[in-house]
Amino acid sequence: MKDTVTIVTGGARGIGEAIAKFLAEKGGNIAIFDIIDGYDVVEAIKQKGVEAKFYKVDVSEYKVVEGAVDDVVKTFGRLNNLVNNAGITTDKLLIRMKEEDWDRVIKVNLKSVFNCTKAAIRHMLKTGGSIVNISSIAGVMGNIGQANYAASKAGIIGFTKSIAREYGERGIRVNAVAPGFIKTQMTDTIDEKTKEEMFRAIPLKRLGEPMDVAHVVYFLVSEYGSYITGEVINVNGGLYM
Ligand code: NAP
Repeated sequence: MKDTVTIVTGGARGIGEAIAKFLAEKGGNIAIFDIIDGYDVVEAIKQKGVEAKFYKVDVSEYKVVEGAVDDVVKTFGRLNNLVNNAGITTDKLLIRMKEEDWDRVIKVNLKSVFNCTKAAIRHMLKTGGSIVNISSIAGVMGNIGQANYAASKAGIIGFTKSIAREYGERGIRVNAVAPGFIKTQMTDTIDEKTKEEMFRAIPLKRLGEPMDVAHVVYFLVSEYGSYITGEVINVNGGLYM
């Protein structure tokens, strides 16, 4: 990862924070885009001897994203990798799901991936690079109460494969990671009974940690993943296979 620059969206906490810190551990420079404060995370990353910068960015707004991406290239001199990780849920059965719930989740989870990739790829065309999009087990198998979320995450997979086909010959690899149940604030709100049921269904008999996802993202952006593109890697303890 030495001398590389990676943007991690939603990198101020949870899975994104783990990804940002692990890539920095491996020597990569990091730009974090998030709507919550990520200054502490960036300070912790700098302690690892790499460069890091926090950008308060709503990734669902194209113009804001474009400005921040341009600043990353100006500040760091290049852009090698993009990890589209920011995401939200507004879980409800379809009958109770409001139009705003649908629109918001699609905008934050799916349009953001278009926004960041479109803004970043112009720069990556010069150097080649790697893009990793964080999808979800819900995007590959569906989930009760998550019609909007699952649709956004399935959309990410179609987007991933299309962009992988479009830019493969320009040296840009594009892959998706589909995590199962990972312990973060996003899953904190799930009730104990549902967690217990999920736990029983996981062959590896443990919930996932943010680092389980970070390790796979590192593999994909590093030279170890150099012949992989258009792929969706499940990181779910066997919950879906
Ligand atoms: P998290 O703890 O909620 O972290 C997500 C981060 O993204 C938060 O800091 C969040 O800020 C930020 N974010 C939300 N909307 C944003 C926006 N418009 N612009 C910029 N940043 C924004 O979630 P996580 O569990 O780490 O999940 C990370 C990714 O993995 C998500 O895409 C999620 O769908 C996916 N995933 C998670 C799991 C799991 O079990 N945790 C499973 C499968 C897939 P706010 O706090 O303001 O929302």
